[in-house]
Amino acid sequence: MENITSNTDTPNTNNGFERLYPPMPIPDGQAIWFPFQKHKLLVKSQGQHISLLQGEKTLLANLKHDELLYLGNLNGMPCIASAVDAEEHIPANWQGVGLRELYSLMDGIEYTIATYASQIINWHQTSRYCPVCGSPMASVPGGWGRRCTRGDYSGYPPVIPAMIVLIYDGDRILLSHKPGWGKRYGLIAGFVEPGETLEECVHREVKEEAGIEIDNLHYIKSQPWPFPNQLMVGFTARYKSGTLQPQDNELDDVRWFTRETLPETPPNISLAYMLISDWLNKEQDK
Ligand SMILES: [Zn+2]
Repeated sequence: MENITSNTDTPNTNNGFERLYPPMPIPDGQAIWFPFQKHKLLVKSQGQHISLLQGEKTLLANLKHDELLYLGNLNGMPCIASAVDAEEHIPANWQGVGLRELYSLMDGIEYTIATYASQIINWHQTSRYCPVCGSPMASVPGGWGRRCTRGDYSGYPPVIPAMIVLIYDGDRILLSHKPGWGKRYGLIAGFVEPGETLEECVHREVKEEAGIEIDNLHYIKSQPWPFPNQLMVGFTARYKSGTLQPQDNELDDVRWFTRETLPETPPNISLAYMLISDWLNKEQDK
């Protein structure tokens, strides 16, 4: 296992979605809608089946809502997001679905745009006023950035990098457990600190959380994690040296598992699941 490469699909950059930025007028005609109410995406429900709302610019006309945000075009169809007032009564055939639940119910690119919509809506709601002087912020043309109307401050939608790593040693992998996780184990993960590279972050977190050294570090893939603004960056690494020693205040267990002894692992929405599945598939091929 000297050279680990991912056997998952290569990142799809041609997914039919073209991002657009303000100021961009919303075209007339049909659009795909991403309205959020109380952090849930409003979708059309027909029995067990749900689908994205489609309709003209007037779709939200009868509901109190924030500014319409034109996110881009999916296969030529405008995608529009907005926050609907929490008190509004939505039509009977609409329902609100949380992003975690939505993952298994929706096509990949539609889900991606929904997570993008939730983050841009959140950004708009939290960037109305300058954090330095309290003056109103105004949109910076050509992006989602906003600038203070009085001073120099400008801000952009936050993306917080965090790393997650699958550590292997022969036919076993390292999993960790936090209090409150029940029977489920996960991978070592952590936020990148200011002034730190991703690679340094992986080495530091592994040392801090498990007490061991690693080598053969490889980047595998990344995943936006909209709870609320993370970008998860996934790696694999090989165990090098040291004795397992879980960090006292964060983890209550770190342990090696083989394919046969694998416990309950993270849900399929997560990058951890994908990294573990990759490893399981490789083990199967042996
Ligand atoms: Zn200011």
